[in-house]
Amino acid sequence: MTNEVFPESLALTEGDSVLQIAWDDGHVSRLRLNVLRAECPCASCKGHHPSQSLNLTAEQFPDIRITDLAPVGRYAYSISWSDGHNTGLYTLRSLREMEDSA
Ligand SMILES: [Zn+2]
Repeated sequence: MTNEVFPESLALTEGDSVLQIAWDDGHVSRLRLNVLRAECPCASCKGHHPSQSLNLTAEQFPDIRITDLAPVGRYAYSISWSDGHNTGLYTLRSLREMEDSA
């Protein structure tokens, strides 16, 4: 992929448990929200060093929902979760490179 791929549309599917992203090159990503939550890249989840990581797993978030999703410039989305966590910045590149989980 290149840096020049952008989302054309985002939608919540499967009873709001899956984030579906349609990219402008035709690719569609389907990301389960509990997997996305466990992959939160923020410093309190991942730590500044791998030894500080909370090692979150998708199983810890069976009923997680997105309460807000806002673009940050043209490179990332800020996601607010139903558990109150909202410090994760998901870059377009990281979202695009995540394996489909749904
Ligand atoms: Zn986090």
